[in-house]
Amino acid sequence: MSDLIELAGRAAASRPRVVIVGGGFGGLHAAKALRYLPVDVTMVDRRNHHTFQPLLYQVALAVLSPADIAQPIRTILRKQENTQVLMDEVVGIDARARKVALESGAQIEYDYLALATGATHSYFGHEQWAPLAPGLKTIEDATEIRRRVLLAFELAERQMLEHGWHPPLNFVVIGGGPTGVELAGAISDIAQLYMRHDFRHIDPAKSRVLLLEGSPRVLAAYPEDLSAKAEQTLKRLSVEVHTHTQVTGVGPGWVEAGGKRIDAAVTLWAAGVQASPLGKMLGVPLDKRGCVIVDSHLNPPGLPEVFVLGDLAHFEQDGHQVPGVAQPAMQMGDYFGKALAADLAGKARPNFRYFDKGDMATIGRMAAVAKIEWPFKGHWSGFPAWITWITVHIFFLVGFLNRLSVFAAWIWTFFTFTRGARLITGSQQLPGWQDKGPKPVGDQPETEKVAAGS
Ligand SMILES: Cc1cc2nc3c(=O)[nH]c(=O)nc-3n(C[C@H](O)[C@H](O)[C@H](O)COP(=O)(O)OP(=O)(O)OC[C@H]3O[C@@H](n4cnc5c(N)ncnc54)[C@H](O)[C@@H]3O)c2cc1C
Repeated sequence: MSDLIELAGRAAASRPRVVIVGGGFGGLHAAKALRYLPVDVTMVDRRNHHTFQPLLYQVALAVLSPADIAQPIRTILRKQENTQVLMDEVVGIDARARKVALESGAQIEYDYLALATGATHSYFGHEQWAPLAPGLKTIEDATEIRRRVLLAFELAERQMLEHGWHPPLNFVVIGGGPTGVELAGAISDIAQLYMRHDFRHIDPAKSRVLLLEGSPRVLAAYPEDLSAKAEQTLKRLSVEVHTHTQVTGVGPGWVEAGGKRIDAAVTLWAAGVQASPLGKMLGVPLDKRGCVIVDSHLNPPGLPEVFVLGDLAHFEQDGHQVPGVAQPAMQMGDYFGKALAADLAGKARPNFRYFDKGDMATIGRMAAVAKIEWPFKGHWSGFPAWITWITVHIFFLVGFLNRLSVFAAWIWTFFTFTRGARLITGSQQLPGWQDKGPKPVGDQPETEKVAAGS
């Protein structure tokens, strides 16, 4: 590591210095939990904003604008006097010397470190698929997906006008977890409902949405009855659900799965996640996805001053790993505050315990599935689950103005069938879709080219 650069604004050296890396759900809750403690906090994030990831797909499918679901971290923490915010990327951790190194060259010393840098996409060793099949994790990913989906309709219209045909408008979503299910349902809504009056030469409703899932069912982490409901709902939305279907290749304009090549105007990746690479820098045991294995105080072995929070933590409770979703990340952040308060008071740290309130996934504009654990236990699906989903997401969204604008956008979209943020920015190219020219001689009807459903 290079020489230590003292950060200006540091308060009395007698107060413990806390560095929080990552302003996602875990990191933000951790920072807020320290609000009244006599500590000096530095929050570092490589982006200037907190992203409400559960609503990213609504940006990707043009219902919401990026600013509706993202808030500057500095603004969120502006009233917290013991906290400074730094936009920079952590590129190194020296756990023995208790320092983190930043991309800008600065280093920050800490007495306590909270690592909450989340997870990223995993292409299972096929990194070359990434530019062909973007995943959804950041605002940039969401606007790229929005660009590709909207551009596909535009290119088809142009192709139809110029040459009287267009290649199949197939949208292939790889991975049938919550993100894949949400994306597939929303693309189908766009094609079937929102675009139908906007084009003169193509019929967007004739486009196809294919959801490819390697395991026997979609939403595999949910109870079987909810998986079945989700699949039924997707089929009602005209999504072609292909379970037991392993993807073996992704190329420009095609996906190979189940031994067949499928035409794909747009391919999206929702199949795998891996932990942020920062976990490795601690030099402690990791699980197979790179998550840091932590004890009941959220500490890795031998590092009681380091706390790992959120998606980056592998924490087991009652024999099961706590899932990588927002609730555990928030609760881990809150716990960080309690653990530090105990240390400062000279008391023993309490154990962390995850309080599971349930899980929800939405499917299209009016349906969802919900596994509810609190305040009562139950499985919901359809419209009641969707109303619950909307209420919970409005409630947890950061920022009062964001809540208002998201609520207004949903009401507007629901009643008018008009999408709010249908903007194409950036390149006008799609992988595998240059100007196709006249229809190739001997071209098969598109339905024969697509793998049969399972
Ligand atoms: C599309 C999508 C939909 C989802 N839907 C749901 C849902 O409906 N319900 C639910 O409960 N959960 C959902 N999740 C999961 C949930 O969003 C995550 O579990 C949660 O965000 C994890 O919080 P975290 O704080 O661990 O990480 P994150 O929220 O991912 O935050 C990590 C932060 O660390 C920063 N960072 C990363 N590396 C560095 C570095 N080296 N230096 C500095 N900063 C860094 C990032 O910029 C980011 O701000 C969804 C996730 C996605 C991607």
